[in-house]
Amino acid sequence: METLVFYSDLDDFERWRRLLIEALPDLEVMRAEEIEDPERVRYALVWKPPRGFFARWPRLGMIVNLGAGVDALVDRDDLPPVPITRLVDPNMARMMAGYVLFSVLRYVREIPFFERMQRESRWEYRHPRNAEDVRVGVLGLGALGACTARELARQGFSVAGWSRGEKRIAGIECRHGMESLADFLAGCEILVVMLPSTPQTRGLLDAERLALLPAGAKLVNVSRGDIVDEYALDALLASGRLGGATLDVFEREPLPVSSPLWSRENVLITPHLASVALPESAVAQIADNIGRIRQGLAPLHCVDPQRGY
Ligand code: NDP
Repeated sequence: METLVFYSDLDDFERWRRLLIEALPDLEVMRAEEIEDPERVRYALVWKPPRGFFARWPRLGMIVNLGAGVDALVDRDDLPPVPITRLVDPNMARMMAGYVLFSVLRYVREIPFFERMQRESRWEYRHPRNAEDVRVGVLGLGALGACTARELARQGFSVAGWSRGEKRIAGIECRHGMESLADFLAGCEILVVMLPSTPQTRGLLDAERLALLPAGAKLVNVSRGDIVDEYALDALLASGRLGGATLDVFEREPLPVSSPLWSRENVLITPHLASVALPESAVAQIADNIGRIRQGLAPLHCVDPQRGY
């Protein structure tokens, strides 16, 4: 019998085990400390395992990253030469699109303003805007970014997207490559960051690039905190040059109590939960990939450690 070894400090092992065994009754699903025969371990489903973890399984055939973002995994120097896959799940994408849609609508419908007015018992009418007049830019058009861009377009917003390679998505103005970034940023009333954290994207939104956004623009970051220079962002929010930010991810998590972002009125903070791994739907993809390995096929949704995503 083949074994899948599970490691995560955050996720519910029993739930994953039950669902994986339901999908693959001939698979054994165990935590590392339960395993007596390391030779049987063919698959690892992991979120941030400790250093040296993979060396314990000499016949490992595939690593599954328990999440969509792989920056914590591909940065390590103890990876065995086996395919690394990540979770790509339509329900996870829908959850992410829902978070971003909420954030964008909250700005467009001026909810922070009405919340303030309510606290003062003031009836202040502000006429709602046409969605088409609002230009939303999505940085990153991958599994999550493309789904989110489509959802925003479905709501009628004017949506532009930016990726590394050329893309075509109906209803989205697609741009790509560094040469188009400055122009792209200058056209975004609301900028949504959905890029993976890689050597190329870390610090991408520095003070200079953030300053290219139109005055009063809003920023929504749902991918990784280190893509945005948090210090520069805070300064632009403090001065009012940027109108607001919705931040789910940060350079350091948990966000330190000393961060000025906590008390900025124009900032909404959530603790890294825009989208989470959903075992009920993600198990199908893992089972499918195990089936592919057993048939000698390459698994789907592989990560390229060189590229970083
Ligand atoms: P994908 O790998 O599917 O897509 C990444 C996108 O970013 C692609 O469109 C890619 O371009 C683009 N990209 C990568 N590098 C560059 C670059 N240097 N310049 C321009 N574009 C670039 O990722 P997902 O959509 O699945 O996820 C995005 C990120 O969301 C994850 O990496 C993770 O960090 C984060 N995340 C956050 C969660 C949360 O709860 N806050 C939950 C889950 C994920 P191309 O298409 O050309 O390759």
